[in-house]
Amino acid sequence: MKIIETTDISRRYVMGAEIIDALKSVTLHINKGEYVAFMGPSGSGKSTLMNIIGCLDTPSTGRYILNGKDVSDMSDGELAGIRNKEIGFVFQTFNLLPRMSSLDNVALPLVYAGLSKGERTEKAMLALKNVGLENRAHHKPNELSGGQRQRVAVARALVNDPSILLADEPTGNLDSKTSYEIMDLFDQLYAKGNTIVMVTHEEDIAHYAHRIIRLRDGLVESDTINPNPTKAY
Ligand code: ADP
Ligand code: ADP
Repeated sequence: MKIIETTDISRRYVMGAEIIDALKSVTLHINKGEYVAFMGPSGSGKSTLMNIIGCLDTPSTGRYILNGKDVSDMSDGELAGIRNKEIGFVFQTFNLLPRMSSLDNVALPLVYAGLSKGERTEKAMLALKNVGLENRAHHKPNELSGGQRQRVAVARALVNDPSILLADEPTGNLDSKTSYEIMDLFDQLYAKGNTIVMVTHEEDIAHYAHRIIRLRDGLVESDTINPNPTKAY
């Protein structure tokens, strides 16, 4: 089943007299349960494409169908609703709230989903358990290692059961040992059927993914199945 379908999407930025075609024509299909890495040099359009896939932005031309819904022409308000339901974001810088416990950080998206306090706690604990951190529920981010912080961020991203886990340089702030810990977690999430889309400029991190898409100058340069994905353990 297709989760992501882009057809000939482009994105043009106009700044005064300057016109930048950050994406020129990108047609991509990603199925439910795939584990995909986007690579490409700086300026190749990775962030622009991730912003569109993550419903933070819409294409200038072309269609984007996310989980069966055409989101190409949605308003910002409609996009926000789709985003909360369909996308779990993980960032290089974790983006956890420093004064809140792991549990409260993970439960936060559920506040917007309108769940009761009891339901929020139960779901957030389960999400923490799924990343192996149920024993860190009451720790604040500064009481956790970098790898643990990123695992809390992954738990928060997944607490609403989104269609896609969208990870932007998820190991960018982690040393190599801790990066393996996160890649191991992604392997487990993939095995459970999660759809993972990650952007990385690190070749060895991209090789954990089962499909590697390379962008160059706003176009897909190559799109290949990785015959032999790296295993973290
Ligand atoms: P990458 O993530 O691969 O580094 P980006 O998608 O950030 O690539 O950028 C692609 C091109 O679009 C670059 O030339 C960049 O300068 C330009 N660009 C990105 N975002 C904006 C923006 N908000 N306004 C104007 N130009 C932008
Ligand atoms: P891991 O081996 O899981 O990456 P570390 O060796 O970095 O973890 O940390 C060991 C333990 O010490 C962790 O379980 C964490 O709770 C705690 N810890 C790590 N960094 C800090 C910190 N900056 N402040 C407080 N506690 C920390």
